[in-house]
Amino acid sequence: MIFDETKYRFMFEALKQAEIAYEEDEVPIGAVVVKDNKIIGKGYNQVEKLNDATAHAEIIAITSASNSIESKTLENCDLYVTVEPCVMCTGAIVLAKIENLYFATYEPKTGACGSIYNILDSNKLNHKVNVFSGIYESESKFILKEYFKEKRK
Ligand SMILES: [Zn+2]
Repeated sequence: MIFDETKYRFMFEALKQAEIAYEEDEVPIGAVVVKDNKIIGKGYNQVEKLNDATAHAEIIAITSASNSIESKTLENCDLYVTVEPCVMCTGAIVLAKIENLYFATYEPKTGACGSIYNILDSNKLNHKVNVFSGIYESESKFILKEYFKEKRK
């Protein structure tokens, strides 16, 4: 699939968030929420720093976007995240009523958007999210690989 350049621009911003996580010794995953072509929320994984298993990039980006537009739901908003969301984050994406989800790379061990589950494909949910993958896939994989390589040292 070919994406227009704005999608690359926003995924690049998500990658920059992942880089901050990397520098802070967190699993390098980053996310941004976009509305009307503007970033309204950003987040990176902070599980270690906050000692919080739920402090995933997507959750932080969704919370920050909701705060910035003072709305509990994010209709007509897109979420860009560098790695396929887990079960928890996929649930949050549905609850927030995100319109389009773009993720860079699949996560075969925990991903819930095609890898271990395909939650968003279910027609039992009351909100439908469009899912796209593959924007800056190799860059996102690369930073994860670097992180785990460092960890093994
Ligand atoms: Zn997650």
